[in-house]
Amino acid sequence: MPHRKPHLPEKTCAACGRPFAWRRKWARDWESVRYCSEACRDGRHPAARKGVDPQRRRP
Ligand SMILES: [Zn+2]
Repeated sequence: MPHRKPHLPEKTCAACGRPFAWRRKWARDWESVRYCSEACRDGRHPAARKGVDPQRRRP
């Protein structure tokens, strides 16, 4: 029989693109969570630097 895990909602990080699961610390604002970590939220994640941030692009 397959091992049953408690179902947790998942999202994809907007910075590094990796899926991450619900955490207790996000219980209050899960709907507004977009990043897997504070580093990604602040744009400090190495993977986040690959893409060009439209807001940082200068004409
Ligand atoms: Zn991330």
